[in-house]
Amino acid sequence: MAKIGFIGLGQMGSGMCRNLIKGGHQLKVYDCAEAAVQNMVDAGAEAATSARAAAEGAEAVFTMLPIGDIVYQTVFGPDGIAEGISNDAIYVDMSTILPEETRNIGRKLAEQGVAMVDAPVGRTSAHAVAGTSTFMVGGDKEHVQRVMPYLECMGECITHCGPLGTGATVKLVNNYISAVCNLVTAEGMALGLAAGADQDTMVEVISQTPAGLGHIKTTWPAKALADDPSPAFMLDLARKDLGLALTAAADAKVPLATGSVTREIYNIASAAGHGREDWTTGIYRTVKHLANAT
Ligand code: NAD
Repeated sequence: MAKIGFIGLGQMGSGMCRNLIKGGHQLKVYDCAEAAVQNMVDAGAEAATSARAAAEGAEAVFTMLPIGDIVYQTVFGPDGIAEGISNDAIYVDMSTILPEETRNIGRKLAEQGVAMVDAPVGRTSAHAVAGTSTFMVGGDKEHVQRVMPYLECMGECITHCGPLGTGATVKLVNNYISAVCNLVTAEGMALGLAAGADQDTMVEVISQTPAGLGHIKTTWPAKALADDPSPAFMLDLARKDLGLALTAAADAKVPLATGSVTREIYNIASAAGHGREDWTTGIYRTVKHLANAT
C-alpha cells in the first residue's frame, strides 16, 4: 500500500485514481479544475493545492495530462513535481506525448536523481474506469518492476517496450496504424455503398479477411515478418487490384485519397523489383528501404 501523487483527473485520470484507491493506495491528487479534485476527494483521495504538494511524501507520482508542454510545465514549472518529489520516488507519465518530450523530461529528472517511466495507455476512458486499460511501458527494468503493482491496479496487458520513451513510440505507432486503417475502411465502405453493395454484406465478407482482421496476425507472420519474399499473393497482382478499385472509384466519383497514395508506393515497389514478391514482404522491404530502417 503506497502513498501516490496523481495529477490530471480528467476522463482517464479520474477512473485510474479510483482503481488505485480500490487497490488500497493512499492518493494525493491535483488538477487545475477544482471540480475534478473534489470528485476524487469524494472517492477517498486527499486534495493537493499544486503538483508539488501532490508529489511531496509520495512513493510514486503519476501524470495523466493532455499534451507534452503541459506535462513539462507540471514537472518543471513553478510549484511543479520536481520541487516536491523525493529522490527515492519514481515518476510515471501516462499521457500521450512525443517520445523525445518524454526522454527530455527523463534526462532532466535524472540530473536530480529521480527515476522516470513512461506508460502511455491503450483503449478508452471506459476501460480506464473498468481497470482494463493497456499500458505500453518504457524505462529501466528495475524501474518498470517498481511501478508494475500500480499499473496492475489500473489495467491489464502491460508490455515493457524497452528504454524510456519506447512506450511513447509504440503507442504512436499503434495509433498511427489504427487511425489510417479507420480511414481506409471508411473509403472502401463508401466505394461499396456508392457502387450499390449492401453494408451488412460487405461487413460479413471483410470480417473474414485481412482487410477486416488486420495484417499483423494474418498475412505478416509467415511473409513480411519472416522476410520471406516467396509469394502467397504477388505484389503486382495486389497492385492490379488496387488499380481496379481506383478505376471503379473514379467512375463512381468516390475519393480514395489513401488508395491513390498507396498505388504510388506499390508502383515504386514494383519498379524497384519487388513486383513478383509476396505483397506484404515487398511492401515492407520497400518502405523500410525508403525509411532507411532495419
Ligand atoms: P482530459 O482532458 O479529460 O483530462 C486532462 C485533465 O488534465 C483535465 O482534468 C484537466 O483539467 C487537467 N489539466 C490540464 N492542464 C493541467 C495543468 N496544467 N495542471 C493540472 N491539471 C491539468 O484528457 P484525457 O482524455 O483524460 O486524456 C489524458 C491523456 O491520455 C491525453 O494525452 C490523451 O491523449 C491520452 N489518452 C486518452 C484516451 C481517452 O480515451 N480519453 C485514451 C488513451 C490515451
